[in-house]
Amino acid sequence: MPKRLLLPSLFLSAMTDELLYIRKQEEAELTHEALCHRCGFCCGAKNDPCLNLAEDASGRYYCKVYDNRIGSQKTVSGKSFSCVPIRDVLTYFTPNPDCGYVKKR
Ligand code: SF4
Ligand code: SF4
Repeated sequence: MPKRLLLPSLFLSAMTDELLYIRKQEEAELTHEALCHRCGFCCGAKNDPCLNLAEDASGRYYCKVYDNRIGSQKTVSGKSFSCVPIRDVLTYFTPNPDCGYVKKR
């Protein structure tokens, strides 16, 4: 008969806490992301859009490089700019008053 592996209960408890914490973080991130209704305004959809801005079949915008978006980018007309987190858009620029993050504040 194979020996059963017995994990110390304290170790299991720490693992459970960490998994619960990670899950809570993921849920919080999804809730935060859901505030964006993908109007594209903060990416220049209404004037000179970022080259990475794309529109889906339902007319909602998305970023083609979302996971690596922060940093130097170019607009369709060739202007350089820096993509910043939405909290900086809200702090330093004039945000779209209909933006979900503006309404949440
Ligand atoms: S302005 Fe707000 S709602 Fe519109 S795309 Fe940007 S973050 Fe999303
Ligand atoms: S790189 Fe930044 S500005 Fe460009 S589409 Fe993505 S999120 Fe918008």
